[in-house]
Amino acid sequence: MPPLQEAANRRETGQPYEQIITWMNGEGHRTTLGNEWRPGALASVLDHPAIAGLYEDEEGNLLPSGGPEVITPEQFRKIRKMRRKHQPEADRAPQREYLLSGEHVVCGLCAHPLGAAPSNAGSRGHRCKPSTAQHPGGCGRVRINADLLETYVAEHVLAELAKPEVSALIEQARDQLLAEAAELRKQADAAKRRQKQLGEDYARSSGMSLQAFKAADKELSAQANAHRARARFLERVKHVPVGDVPDLLRWWKHAPMVAKQGVVVLMLEQIAVYPAASRGSRTVDADRVALVWRQWDAGPES
Ligand SMILES: [Zn+2]
Repeated sequence: MPPLQEAANRRETGQPYEQIITWMNGEGHRTTLGNEWRPGALASVLDHPAIAGLYEDEEGNLLPSGGPEVITPEQFRKIRKMRRKHQPEADRAPQREYLLSGEHVVCGLCAHPLGAAPSNAGSRGHRCKPSTAQHPGGCGRVRINADLLETYVAEHVLAELAKPEVSALIEQARDQLLAEAAELRKQADAAKRRQKQLGEDYARSSGMSLQAFKAADKELSAQANAHRARARFLERVKHVPVGDVPDLLRWWKHAPMVAKQGVVVLMLEQIAVYPAASRGSRTVDADRVALVWRQWDAGPES
């Protein structure tokens, strides 16, 4: 039996990766690069759809790729299902990091912000969450694979950043957004002060009904929270590098997630995602995603 198949069988019965690789390395099995197996490496091989002759399309559906099935699709699905429960926390963390999040990633159909939601196959994804009784949501009709969407957005953002007339404005644009965030924080503080005042007025029995007080109090609280949330969102741009980044592609590849998130916030006002035209696409089609570029003030005329 091929070692990866044996490894998959052991995994399916619940054997931890540490034990499986001890067996593999002991038998002299090595990775394709000739290295000893490590738990993370084996986990990512067994977790990749290619091992079962599958690929994941832009909506997170697993479909036959025509490639060889080292293990069966059924076994692959079982092993993937075990992942979230059994994998060590450290291995799972990067899976949950999203480049795109927040108010500017929206459903193209209903304009509701997309949430992070793993696909049925267990990989990272974004989804327009349908409304439930407790949580008002969106239409629930859009879902997209996060890797593919991130790749698409990164390509477009990097192409835009590579234009000299754009990169020349980065520092100024960043300062503008940070100033906007500071203004929002001021407004949030003002709302909080008004809320405090309101409480004092009510306590001094100014004739306000309890109901009116509660409504106004709630409103001010919501205002302050909304301003702060938007400020936090804009403040992501503080991680954007200013000055010369000679090789953007290289920078992007190695940049920390917060810096890349900042670049996206700086560049894009909105990312609207529409339903896939058909099942089975391995890339995100341009007509699925509408990018709205942020308009920066050109600054004082020179
Ligand atoms: Zn929607």
